[in-house]
Amino acid sequence: RLRENRRAIPFNDPGSLTRVIAVSSGKGGVGKSSVTANLAAAMALDGLRVGVLDADIHGFSMTGMFGITDKPTKVGDLLMPPEGHGVKVMSIGMFVPPGQAVVWRGPKMHRAIEQFASDVYWGDLDVLLLDLPPGTGDVAISVAQLLPRAEMLVVTTPQSSAATVAERVGSLAEAVEQDVVGVVENMSWMDLPDGSRMEVFGSGGGRHVAAAMAGHVRHPVPVLGQIPLDVRLREGADTGSPVVVSDPASTAAQELRRIAREL
Ligand code: ADP
Repeated sequence: RLRENRRAIPFNDPGSLTRVIAVSSGKGGVGKSSVTANLAAAMALDGLRVGVLDADIHGFSMTGMFGITDKPTKVGDLLMPPEGHGVKVMSIGMFVPPGQAVVWRGPKMHRAIEQFASDVYWGDLDVLLLDLPPGTGDVAISVAQLLPRAEMLVVTTPQSSAATVAERVGSLAEAVEQDVVGVVENMSWMDLPDGSRMEVFGSGGGRHVAAAMAGHVRHPVPVLGQIPLDVRLREGADTGSPVVVSDPASTAAQELRRIAREL
């Protein structure tokens, strides 16, 4: 049950030292959630206090990616977020029976995100990452309104069609006056057994999106890194063990850890 919000959102306190980073993408399936989970786990490995707020209400996936089966516990009026791999996680998936959809429109999603931000005992975090739904819909606007200090991180594939839709996130960032910290290009190549690289989805998408974003938000937007296609990354997401934890020596894991440090 959602109740009317009364508590202030601690991350909006002018003295708050928490970085708030919303991870966005133009469309689904580009690896936005995988990147969010791995960056959070990578930051926790580096000793940072990290929280993940799953704002992808219809497409929630953070419980699965962190292997969390616990539910939040209640302490007074606050919910204590369960932890996975050293990361505090809050997701609507913790309240929904398996196989059940969240059949909500925008205003109810807005209130859910508001409560996840205000009625959860996050403690003192260094970083709060939000996994946004793909695209430029209601929730992205709600997050900008509810967490005005949030910066945006954009995930795209190298494919030109994906890059074109990811650019639209730049015009949203411009409209809601959000800074864009950078672009992560995912699924950039696949290492073949003969040592060569196969560019399954073409090339250049990350660079293209970063340049288009910079035009919108009028500050430089870097390509923070490129992550290869890797079966171990997919397996890690499916088994609740992000690849930075399950296979730290892989190129994908090392690149994700480097990006997490660069943020
Ligand atoms: P999104 O959040 O953008 O919808 P997901 O993170 O859910 O995307 O990723 C979509 C699918 O692709 C998942 O099954 C995920 O495990 C897989 N995936 C994402 N990135 C990679 C990668 N670099 N290599 C292999 N599989 C990946």
